[in-house]
Amino acid sequence: MNILVLNCGSSSLKFQIIETDMDMINSDSDKMLAKGLIERVGSQSLISFQVVGKPSFKSAEPLRDHKIALMYAIKWITNPETEIPGIKDISDIHAIGHRCVHGAERFKKAVKIDNDVIDGIEDCIPLAPLHNPANLKGIYAARDIFGPSVPQVAIFDTAFHSTIPETTYMYAIPYQFYRRFKIRKYGFHGTSHRYIAYRYRILNNLEREQVNIISLHLGNGCSACAIKNGFSLDTSMGLTPLDGLMMGTRCGDIDPSVIEFLAHNEGITIDEVFSVLNKRSGLLGISGLTNDMRDLLEEEKEHKDRRATLAIDMFCNRIRKYIGAYMAAMNGVESICFTGGIGENSPDIRRRAIKGLEWFGIELDDELNNLAVRSKEMLISSENSRIKVYVIPTNEELLLARDTLRVVIDAKRIW
Ligand code: ADP
Repeated sequence: MNILVLNCGSSSLKFQIIETDMDMINSDSDKMLAKGLIERVGSQSLISFQVVGKPSFKSAEPLRDHKIALMYAIKWITNPETEIPGIKDISDIHAIGHRCVHGAERFKKAVKIDNDVIDGIEDCIPLAPLHNPANLKGIYAARDIFGPSVPQVAIFDTAFHSTIPETTYMYAIPYQFYRRFKIRKYGFHGTSHRYIAYRYRILNNLEREQVNIISLHLGNGCSACAIKNGFSLDTSMGLTPLDGLMMGTRCGDIDPSVIEFLAHNEGITIDEVFSVLNKRSGLLGISGLTNDMRDLLEEEKEHKDRRATLAIDMFCNRIRKYIGAYMAAMNGVESICFTGGIGENSPDIRRRAIKGLEWFGIELDDELNNLAVRSKEMLISSENSRIKVYVIPTNEELLLARDTLRVVIDAKRIW
């Protein structure tokens, strides 16, 4: 089955076409056929498409909205000159899987999209005002273009964390606010953490229930996840993705009093404070230079910039704090797994984040750590390390495609 995986952001559209079926899942031989990214949807859009193994196609076009952007992508996908194996026209796309950010308490697993599900995703908008409307734009666009005969599936970032126990997901604020507004920890990056758990299980030949790891997704957004017996026990993001680890532009953990203090003393509105915490904080806020870890490391090396070092050290310190907290919560961890753009590519950050955890018996093999660049899947801890450390490149799209297939054929969930 050829699955179109769609990931729509407020001004972006990402896709992959993945060929999969149950045999391919069982033999881990599903194939990504093509991928694409359209940025700046709504103005002069930047387009980058690629058939696997071929040079990429790049262009810039004014694409007014997500539907026009998707139509543009479909035109390229079905163009005979593009030559995606097995894809000649639109009928060769058999199902569509949508990455949806917030499923709140309603969506605990992937679901086939119908009007009721769309209403449910709309109901979650107050919890994810930036993300869910963008996801819905993708759903509406695909429905208009493909019609009702092509099944569409929604896969939620929050779903993997639906196993987090009440004692962990509740905030210690009056209970009525949970009852009235469902204010609680939900967690995000769920598909990525689930993929890490899945790969870890395959690499070590384990059953799902034997997976006891801390997964660290370090990209522009960053989150940690305590995975116990194969299920999410805790994660660092909360009601929204603002909580937890320090990120590119987000502050992560903060004393809530800062919000009131900033609003009063800087004379700005609550919305403006949240814009500061979401868009002008994290690595960018501390360094005053950039939210990009690669550039920050370069700045530190070339110019010995004090605030670049401070930002990086704070970033690593927060990771260490979560590793410690999750080791306590899990009462036994076998491995720590790094993923995401930073986790997969930066030996320096991994070394600095793990440094100081020797007391727990965690020790990197410097040579292996230095070899783990450009998204290589490998073990990077030393032979003596009591807790193993891995780099596992994430592949959310693969799980999105597999979930789509399973929902469409109504298969029992297996991973
Ligand atoms: P997103 O969360 O948007 O998917 P990514 O997972 O692609 O983002 O991660 C982007 C981050 O990864 C950026 O901060 C980028 O600088 C960082 N990154 C990518 N390669 C490297 C590298 N070699 N060293 C350090 N950081 C890197």
